[in-house]
Amino acid sequence: MKKYDVIVAGAGPIGGHVSKKIAEKNYSVAVLEKNNEIGKYLNCAGLVTQRVFEITKLSSKTIQNKISGANIHSPSNDILKIGGERVHALVIDRTNFDKEIIKQAEKKQVEVFLGKKLYFAKRNKDKIQIKTSEKEELECKILIGADGPLSKTRKIFNFPEPKEFLKGAGAEVSNVSLDPNFVEIFVGKNVAPGFFAWIISTNTSGTEARIGLCIDKNTLQPPMFYLKKFLKNKNTYPFLKDAKTTKNIAGVIPMGALKKTFTDNVLLVGDAAAQVKPTSGGGLYPGLLSANHCADVVVDSLEKNDFSSNFLKKYHKLWNKDIGKELNRGMTFRTVFKKLSDEEFDKYISKFKNPKIAEIINKYGDIDYPSKLSSPLIKKNPSILKLAKKMLKK
Ligand SMILES: Cc1cc2nc3c(=O)[nH]c(=O)nc-3n(C[C@H](O)[C@H](O)[C@H](O)COP(=O)(O)OP(=O)(O)OC[C@H]3O[C@@H](n4cnc5c(N)ncnc54)[C@H](O)[C@@H]3O)c2cc1C
Repeated sequence: MKKYDVIVAGAGPIGGHVSKKIAEKNYSVAVLEKNNEIGKYLNCAGLVTQRVFEITKLSSKTIQNKISGANIHSPSNDILKIGGERVHALVIDRTNFDKEIIKQAEKKQVEVFLGKKLYFAKRNKDKIQIKTSEKEELECKILIGADGPLSKTRKIFNFPEPKEFLKGAGAEVSNVSLDPNFVEIFVGKNVAPGFFAWIISTNTSGTEARIGLCIDKNTLQPPMFYLKKFLKNKNTYPFLKDAKTTKNIAGVIPMGALKKTFTDNVLLVGDAAAQVKPTSGGGLYPGLLSANHCADVVVDSLEKNDFSSNFLKKYHKLWNKDIGKELNRGMTFRTVFKKLSDEEFDKYISKFKNPKIAEIINKYGDIDYPSKLSSPLIKKNPSILKLAKKMLKK
């Protein structure tokens, strides 16, 4: 039986990053990845902030484009233009981003096993014993579940489940016609019930894009049904009329960060812990930030030889202090958002087309910390608070 200090389930960006950070301190780390290739299935629109590069220390080579604003299309196609004055986000080649993170981990001597799924795990005398889909047996002091939204680690060790899941579908397309500096966002029950749809230019000339949408899990039709409609929608026609699909995107987004992410010898991080922004579905920044805390606490626990739940709970406290509150505020915003009718979307998008509001959005808008906007917005337009209260009661 091969023995490691730490085994990480999942070689996504969060599993790759946390494994690198622990191996840097000379502990033995193995990563199990069920797919036989890193980044095999694309599950991302690839929109992140510069902070993701500050955390990972990756070079800019996976950056495809820079975004300075958004055009938000209401159900009746009234358009609210926000931003435009500075770079707010970066568009990344997500497949190569994941590969680069794993390369960094391998440089620190992390052993990455492709095509090996974490199949079974149990605690035995302060160790975790693991069986892979290939029937190998491995042992570690700490298991980190970074195995994505439908985490097996979460199920085996009886962690709570995320509050909800969104279903997503999308595509990479060529032959499109976009302003490369702006993302196009579409809301409304016919476009993406329970969330929104997007078109994001993946090159600086606006001829290639990633399009996609997410819908509430309880929506009767599958996300592909909405994606097909999106491609033919009269509001997307100016951008997508000649679009040719080059790659499909699909995935699930967990929402509502877990109330417990540690137990004896086991931690959850990234999508496995639903460390995802409920306002945008972005999981890279909160997941990487939490992965840093996870690595620090794991290294500390290895130094002190204490893998107890009581010791590891520090991780839960740290990530909650850092980003947990922001994610919870995002869930409140989401509760309001989900209840808005198409008429209300039209009304508020039109109301927001006010230079004073645009100025506030430009000044305080931060896709990693959207709650920074709420106080200045409410001050300028108190009816937003009334609406939020009404929706929360509904
Ligand atoms: C449609 C869509 C668009 C999105 N757009 C954005 C965006 O623009 N910006 C952003 O920041 N985020 C976005 N996200 C979210 C982002 O993709 C996730 O938050 C991110 O992938 C989380 O990384 P992770 O490493 O936690 O999980 P994952 O990327 O899901 O990686 C988990 C890994 O674990 C592996 N695995 C699963 N089970 C096992 C097992 N039992 N054993 C071994 N390996 C296993 C999987 O194969 C996978 O490689 C989007 C998500 C979707 C679905």
